[in-house]
Amino acid sequence: MLEIPESKTISLQAGKTLLNREITAVFKATSPHKFAFYSGDPDGYAQLLVGKHVKSAKGHGMFVDIICNDNVSITIGDGTNMRYYTPSDQRPEKHQLLLEFDDGSCVAFTVAMYGGIWAYRGSFDNKYHRGSLNSISPLDDAFDETVFEGIIKNTSKDISIKALLATEQRIPGLGNGVLQDILFNARLHPKFKKSGLSDFQKEELFYSLKVILKKMTDKGGRDTEKDFYGHTGGYKTLLSKNTMKNPCPVCGSTIVKMAYLGGAVYFCQSCQKL
Ligand SMILES: [Zn+2]
Repeated sequence: MLEIPESKTISLQAGKTLLNREITAVFKATSPHKFAFYSGDPDGYAQLLVGKHVKSAKGHGMFVDIICNDNVSITIGDGTNMRYYTPSDQRPEKHQLLLEFDDGSCVAFTVAMYGGIWAYRGSFDNKYHRGSLNSISPLDDAFDETVFEGIIKNTSKDISIKALLATEQRIPGLGNGVLQDILFNARLHPKFKKSGLSDFQKEELFYSLKVILKKMTDKGGRDTEKDFYGHTGGYKTLLSKNTMKNPCPVCGSTIVKMAYLGGAVYFCQSCQKL
């Protein structure tokens, strides 16, 4: 899934690889998908995109924007994979959109469960996309303790740490995936209530969030996810589906997997007390 480390990694890779490439053909879905979302009718994508040159790419929150000349962009969101193929690579048979470039390379978009592949001119009318563009990323220096405190105070209800950090897109692109190592590192249980946080715990949580997200991004995303070239990320997740059978890396206890607030959480019962 696209979360902060992956959207940033993929945008850096796509921006570099596709710079100044011209889109020469657009191929519609070979495998139509009920939950692949487009801007209007994807039949119109060829008319909008062919002849445009890629100028940059921007990763923010759970989105990647490919920005072309003439004010045209293509945006993907969480749930959509965007994969690059060189001219000599074999192209995938199944996709929900494929763009061909002037050097014979292509980019295939595939949707797993649900996801968007939006092509548009001007700005994208989507509240989560707008919210993400207008928010301060935890990867930026401007995301400091004051900003973090504001996010905590902004919710009047006494919700859990998982609800606070990884629901409602309060921090765009911080989802259930990256949450596991952030909480493990801060020694906080996903169900721990926000009212119970001491000043020290808040500080630990803030630094864990900053440090873990930076590390994940610097390593090219998590090892549970694929990048623009189809390679898994270099960040070794501490707690994820990949490590579930392993003992806690700190104390050796068994890691618990539990369904909680949309998605499985992984935690160590002795290191992350409720
Ligand atoms: Zn432990």
